[in-house]
Amino acid sequence: EGLNLKNVSYLRTHDDASAIGEAINEHAKILVVGSSFIGMEMASYCVRKVKQITVIGSIPFHRSFGKEIGTQVQRFFESKGVKFLLDTTPQSLKSIKNDGAIQQVVLKNGKVVEADAVVIGIGVLPSVEFLKGSQLLPSENNYIVVDERMQTNVKDVYAVGDAVFGPVLGTKTNIGHWQVAQYHGKVAAKNMLLKPTVLHTVPFFWTRFFNMSIRYVGRKEWVKVKVTSSVAVWCKVSISRTELPKMG
Ligand SMILES: Cc1cc2nc3c(=O)[nH]c(=O)nc-3n(C[C@H](O)[C@H](O)[C@H](O)COP(=O)(O)OP(=O)(O)OC[C@H]3O[C@@H](n4cnc5c(N)ncnc54)[C@H](O)[C@@H]3O)c2cc1C
Repeated sequence: EGLNLKNVSYLRTHDDASAIGEAINEHAKILVVGSSFIGMEMASYCVRKVKQITVIGSIPFHRSFGKEIGTQVQRFFESKGVKFLLDTTPQSLKSIKNDGAIQQVVLKNGKVVEADAVVIGIGVLPSVEFLKGSQLLPSENNYIVVDERMQTNVKDVYAVGDAVFGPVLGTKTNIGHWQVAQYHGKVAAKNMLLKPTVLHTVPFFWTRFFNMSIRYVGRKEWVKVKVTSSVAVWCKVSISRTELPKMG
């Protein structure tokens, strides 16, 4: 409820970014919904420009990096002034002045948070409604299943990018990154041109916050994570020596 209020925005398009930019000022209280890449990058960008910024979600990046590293990241953000409300979600967004703009967010846990702007960094789903009734078999999470040539279960029908559930390092999963989507396109195009080509990809991505960066290569298969230094230190190490943080 309240998603259509003024100053409530996803961050998906240039217009979204412009609208968010207009809402940022030194008096603003900003609420970010989602504690993964979009939410955390948003929080680090805003924190020195606004009065208050609060992130609602779960432990930051825990799905990508695990809880131990996520907790370190959270502490680091808190040290920079970002507040967190974890393990709850917004229930409704309200304009208490009835002027069509957001002022309050009611959370599922009953708390009420004041907000001049809400940025939503969750909810990416494959846009596959148009395939309903087709012969394509979806994956459990409704992605389009492809083989190592990006072909679906229907001969000569290919799919690529964020919408697919495809081979990655010996298993099948969905990856939502540019480089994977671009590579998918290349492989699919070659196969469509009858040049048999198999996908061999190692996904990688990075995120930047507070002039530092986490870089990630491969696919999460955590056996054991041991944090040996603070996030600030291993982020700096990974930039200055361009090597991954050492983890036992
Ligand atoms: C804010 C944000 C930041 C990001 N930052 C990064 C980053 O730093 N690094 C990174 O690697 N990735 C990042 N990503 C993810 C990256 O954008 C995607 O992985 C990439 O765009 C996927 O490409 P795609 O072609 O599969 O899908 P998209 O780029 O989403 O393109 C799909 C296109 O299909 C159109 N479409 C959808 N349904 C239909 C339909 N039924 N009929 C016709 N057209 C349709 C859509 O309008 C869209 O134009 C980010 C994403 C967001 C939202």
